[in-house]
Amino acid sequence: MLLRIVGLLLSVVTWLVPVGASAEDAVPGLALRWLGVAGFSVSDGETVLLHDPYLSRPGLLATLFTRFRPDEGLLERWLDPGGPAPEAVSARTILIGHSHFDHLGDSPWIADRIGATIVGSGTTVAIAQAYGLPGERTRLLDPGDEIDVGPFEIRVVASRHAAVMFGRVPLTGHVLEPPVGPIHALSFKLGDARGYLIRHLPSGVRVYVTSSAAVDRPALEALRDAGIEVDVLLAAIPGRAPDYVPSLIELLRPRIVVPHHFDDFFVPISEPAAGTATSPEDLELFEEEVRAASERFGTDTEVRRVALFERFELVSD
Ligand SMILES: [Zn+2]
Repeated sequence: MLLRIVGLLLSVVTWLVPVGASAEDAVPGLALRWLGVAGFSVSDGETVLLHDPYLSRPGLLATLFTRFRPDEGLLERWLDPGGPAPEAVSARTILIGHSHFDHLGDSPWIADRIGATIVGSGTTVAIAQAYGLPGERTRLLDPGDEIDVGPFEIRVVASRHAAVMFGRVPLTGHVLEPPVGPIHALSFKLGDARGYLIRHLPSGVRVYVTSSAAVDRPALEALRDAGIEVDVLLAAIPGRAPDYVPSLIELLRPRIVVPHHFDDFFVPISEPAAGTATSPEDLELFEEEVRAASERFGTDTEVRRVALFERFELVSD
């Protein structure tokens, strides 16, 4: 265990320094990796999906007083087979949960650099184009739509954004036409908030990811009514609505819940504090809420905390 932790720390610390010839081969088996904030990779060793990768993390002042620009040098080093998420460079699809800058900000640049397509709302597509991503590398999908990406079947599920700022949902609204980029972080309007139901066909494993801690209950009821249960739920936790955890546990009946979006995204990704919870108490409270809901609905759900850049294997090869 200690060795594993040391290895993890080393991999986090050393990736900022270019390293030669240490490229990790693609590891088979279905696995997740948390990238900080609401960012994840899902990989089966051949096909890689990214969700809301956000690594640039300019500080609070830069975010407030300058237009948002991805940190190209940092992203270039991150997108390296010797980096802390070696599979990321192989992604061909980037799913965007909603269009706020801490979800969408880096993705147009990443997509352009690695030849991936961004999937999201009309607002996501318009902002991606403002950052220079060609229209044909964006894909507008609405709730209810489904696509296949290699062995993954992906369904867009209507969802909502939590009231995380003084009891209100921040930066609501849509961006209908591509603005002139780069734009200010506060001009990254919400668009819609959606969940993605990801099914890996060869293993049958289902993963559901929320980008914010609220739900559209009728959309989840429709999944329940279709007999769909998920194996792994990736649940954003800040500012969650009272019905968030009970609805997710009752209607999706997950075996494992991985909490995320509890870290401070103004802390640079290379700092030791990156990926730690701004409120450990709230993280524990979330775990208690999951336990209570699991007992109430008889689901036997367990919470699994995944560290920054840790590879969490769902199905071994
Ligand atoms: Zn948001």
